[in-house]
Amino acid sequence: MVSGIGMTSDRTRARMVERLKARGIQDTLVLAAMGRVPRHVFVDEGISVRAYEDSALPIGFGQTISAPYTVARMVELLFQGRKLTKVLEVGTGCGYQAAVLAQLATEVYSVERIGALLERTRARLWPLMIRNLRLKLTDGTKGLPEAAPFDGIIVAAAAPQIPSALLAQLAPGGRLVIPVGERQQQLILVEQTEAGPVQRAIESVHFVPLLEQIQ
Ligand code: SAH
Repeated sequence: MVSGIGMTSDRTRARMVERLKARGIQDTLVLAAMGRVPRHVFVDEGISVRAYEDSALPIGFGQTISAPYTVARMVELLFQGRKLTKVLEVGTGCGYQAAVLAQLATEVYSVERIGALLERTRARLWPLMIRNLRLKLTDGTKGLPEAAPFDGIIVAAAAPQIPSALLAQLAPGGRLVIPVGERQQQLILVEQTEAGPVQRAIESVHFVPLLEQIQ
């Protein structure tokens, strides 16, 4: 749980949650989590007044924080009313989505490929005292074998194809939410069933590319 947060942005955040509901986000636990995490602390002060707008924002290093609707939609698809014990996020970025996931899952692992971005994110997350979130600098296309299997995996960057390591690290009944494609991307939901992985295309999206090199 996030604690030690001031009241300044509470009303703006409540309005953001109302807009998410109006756009079709229904899961009350997801809406509550979005209402708790202070999105403005994850972006640079210069643009923090825009933190609750429904748009993606730059976070430096050529990367972006996804729009609130996109985060809520992906997290809702991942959870669908279930309690998830172990979740992997690929693409920590500024750590916002990881903080939302940590409100809902028992344990969250989030991996990032840009070292300097991850260090800044660690510093920003520290005061929020989120104890069930582990961060690691690594190439997420390989998943995180030492913590696998996961009952949920969420990828915040678009891959040309679904990385096979991620499917291999999905527990039975687990779900993977991932944007797939290059210029034209679709958000794909994969469920690990007894008969193997079952895929469903959800909607068109636009994400930064999933890249393999650590920097
Ligand atoms: N969830 C983030 C969104 C960040 S944008 C947030 O809430 O801010 C996607 C992130 O994925 C970028 O920071 C990018 O550096 C990272 N990324 C891209 N390819 C990756 C890979 N192979 N492994 C880990 N992280 C990756």
